[in-house]
Amino acid sequence: MSDTKFAQQGMSFRQSVEHMVDHAIEIMDLDAGIGDALKVCKSVIQVSFPVEIDGHVEIFTGWRATHSDHRLPSKGGIRYAPIVDQDEVEALAALMTYKCAIVDVPFGGSKGGLIIDPKKYERHQLEAITRRFARELIGKGFMSPAKNVPAPDMGTGPQEMGWMTDTYRNLFPDDINYMGVVTGKPVEHGGVRGRNEATGRGVQYALREFFRHQDEVKSAGLEGDLGGKRVVVQGLGNVGYHAAHFLQTEDDCKIIAIIERDGAIVNPEGLDVDNVALYLRETGGVEGYEDATFQADGSSMLELDCDILIPAAMEGVITHENADKIKARVIAEAANGPVTYSADQKLQQRGVVIIPDAYCNAGGVIVSYFEWIRNLNHVRFGRIDKRFHEARGQKIITAIEMATDTKIPDWLKESIACGADEFDLVRSGLDDSMRLGMQEIIEKRRSNEKIEDYRMAAYVIAIEKIARTYRDIGY
Ligand code: GLU
Repeated sequence: MSDTKFAQQGMSFRQSVEHMVDHAIEIMDLDAGIGDALKVCKSVIQVSFPVEIDGHVEIFTGWRATHSDHRLPSKGGIRYAPIVDQDEVEALAALMTYKCAIVDVPFGGSKGGLIIDPKKYERHQLEAITRRFARELIGKGFMSPAKNVPAPDMGTGPQEMGWMTDTYRNLFPDDINYMGVVTGKPVEHGGVRGRNEATGRGVQYALREFFRHQDEVKSAGLEGDLGGKRVVVQGLGNVGYHAAHFLQTEDDCKIIAIIERDGAIVNPEGLDVDNVALYLRETGGVEGYEDATFQADGSSMLELDCDILIPAAMEGVITHENADKIKARVIAEAANGPVTYSADQKLQQRGVVIIPDAYCNAGGVIVSYFEWIRNLNHVRFGRIDKRFHEARGQKIITAIEMATDTKIPDWLKESIACGADEFDLVRSGLDDSMRLGMQEIIEKRRSNEKIEDYRMAAYVIAIEKIARTYRDIGY
């Protein structure tokens, strides 16, 4: 999958990320050595382990790479995919380092991968495989609440995270912070409300902030706000679904095409994202969905005329081959590494604005950070102060009504006298981080004429922050 796409262009995924980082380093005034230190992956482990499946033994192979540990724990998801390798895991771990730095999440970068097609296994088999993989990582020092904290990624979700946490707890029952060993857990088992939607929600917040900067919007060749913008989404998994769902239901975007594994469906009037998601769950594909035309060659729909393209499936889908045919004016990289290095250069020359992965999909790790804090605090956000704020709001309403002798309308009363619950707080924290991230990127690009695009600006911001830590505490 990823590897072939990148390999066809004579460059692996890791090399593609490195090239982008090199490019950023070139225009910065960095201490000798820091650039080199940044590019190496600090440690990586490969594990192979047997699991009995239906009476016979199968061997599974996986990796966990720690790209950086200047801040601890190192953080990043674990993906389950039929094709994944060390190179890909290292590239993704590096992206996690930059991602955390850009949005000020105080973690290092890590990533894991296991070669498996999860769809081929039953639940109890997946549980056995996941628990065994977790034991391997824990035993080798690649998973603990203080040093290395996994999360969901492609092919994994709250269920796998729950099993991993329980495996750790069984091994270390005296660790009072065991819940913090993994994020993205089920809400009933230490997860935080809003983590599941977080990455897609973050993509929405990133686009909203971009559209608050009308001069930037104009330079992309667009105008106005998000309402009515024509959006193409590739991949209706957790990230793509939530991004498309929120953009459609809250920002009035038109989702004119959805690209899935079996092809794409197109409707210039806009697709009903929730209906499509339901259909996809029931039939396993999008072919046959009423109210749309079907295109068997799904990836050709990346080239559809639209305002915003959201690749939310996998890496290496926009390459030097199709880059010139992309008609979108804005690409929001919801997946990690969807645009290869050479495609990035071509798109940039044509003035296509790319909101880069290392920022655009950081919503997941931002809310993972909140979950980890919640786990270390052993208390749900809002539990202590929700009623207090409600009572204070009530008093303010009474005071205003008494002083002005006018009744405040009920709808306004409700919002003034409302204490924030965990969902509200997580969403507002995520919104704030995404807004600040985009603002910093825009400012950084404007501040230096050598910085031509947002990706470069994002990398420069990340490298500056990491370099500062290196200078202060050494590598
Ligand atoms: N797998 C997600 C990512 O690539 C989330 C990582 C995390 O929450 O640690 O950003």
